Amino acid sequence: MNIQFHGGVAEVGGSCIGVETDDARIALDYGIKVGDEALNGLPSDFDVFVISHAHLDHSGNLLSLASGNPVIVGSKMTREITGDLLLDMVKIQHMKGNNFPYTNHDVENIKRSWWVREAAALPGMSIQLYPAGHVAGARMISVQGDGKEILYTGDFCLHDTMILEGAQLESLPKNPDALIIETTYGGTTRLKRSELVDLFLKRILDTIEREGNVLLPAFAFHRSQEIAKIVDQAMADSVLPDYRVYIVSRLARRIAQHFNSNKQFFTEEIQEQKYPFNYRHVKHLHRTKQIKEPAIVICTSGFGHAGASLRLLTEWAVDEDNSVLISSGYLPPESPLRIAKEKGEVIENGSRIPVRAEVDQIELSGHADQSELEKLIRTVKPKRTFLVHGEVEQAYALSEKISGITEVHIPEKEETFTI
Ligand SMILES: [Zn+2]
Repeated sequence: MNIQFHGGVAEVGGSCIGVETDDARIALDYGIKVGDEALNGLPSDFDVFVISHAHLDHSGNLLSLASGNPVIVGSKMTREITGDLLLDMVKIQHMKGNNFPYTNHDVENIKRSWWVREAAALPGMSIQLYPAGHVAGARMISVQGDGKEILYTGDFCLHDTMILEGAQLESLPKNPDALIIETTYGGTTRLKRSELVDLFLKRILDTIEREGNVLLPAFAFHRSQEIAKIVDQAMADSVLPDYRVYIVSRLARRIAQHFNSNKQFFTEEIQEQKYPFNYRHVKHLHRTKQIKEPAIVICTSGFGHAGASLRLLTEWAVDEDNSVLISSGYLPPESPLRIAKEKGEVIENGSRIPVRAEVDQIELSGHADQSELEKLIRTVKPKRTFLVHGEVEQAYALSEKISGITEVHIPEKEETFTI
């Protein structure tokens, strides 16, 4: 069995790994580098494309296959959300006036080509999916063929969150010939989720007490629904007093509807609620103009690059009563949120506005930290381990921890291994 690393090695973005036997050739993920929507550079001659989860760095390149009737395998939630995120990508590219040759019709073709499966068999190869935590519908993928077995984690986490269970280690195959594992936070250890949520709520409470606005930039898929649920529950439990709370994102609203109609992907507690993502205290709005201040506002983009979060950041940054709470662990170097946090300024039309609002980063990440990565490797006991989906320093930091228990490789782009 051959494994070839086409993308998402020594970096985050453009994930794609080819697995090949004499009988079949499949792709594990087919992503883009977000910010580079050129959609080329990946081979397309695979029999099947297995998608771990809907984030575009794992799924976005599927659009380039729209006219070729590809066979795509993935969970039901991943199909629905990938469809929504691809439609959003098409809309943004056309709005920017970019020469983007894909349309909504192509997105429909991708959804039609999708086999909603948790397992699949093809000549000489079988595929099994396992819940991965991370985001709704995310799966790890095992591949068996030629008497060999590979486990690919995709993005995952082991800890439970308010809406999603972490990956269950007991259910995973043991002693695979190869493990391909993400290393986004290979060198990072984090506080417990519950402690982070308490900190998060404490910051919101402090701002409410001074009657300020709270800006919560978040991704439309999963993180904004999770944060809305955390705030909603905190108000129901009187951990937070009544205060206006809004989500400003049409996409987040559409995704909340998918969540409501696919409750089986969430925790038991969520499943017991009739419409868990129709919040009691959190209102969906389409425009920032509709906001009545003071308020808590969850909005996109998660990095503050555009949309409501950039608008509100610019407007609210000048007032020391306001606060900006960043939940993403990673912020691209030139993103407005990173500049606001590190340099204390927001740049609007070339002029610098000093930030007086409190800017804080409390990571509510869906990725495993170093201890979780190590725990998975110790439990699964792979013969060899390939570290992907992380900057090289993160991969090296993890490599040091695990080199005594497994043979470790940090592959390079297009490198091929035979197992
Ligand atoms: Zn992801």
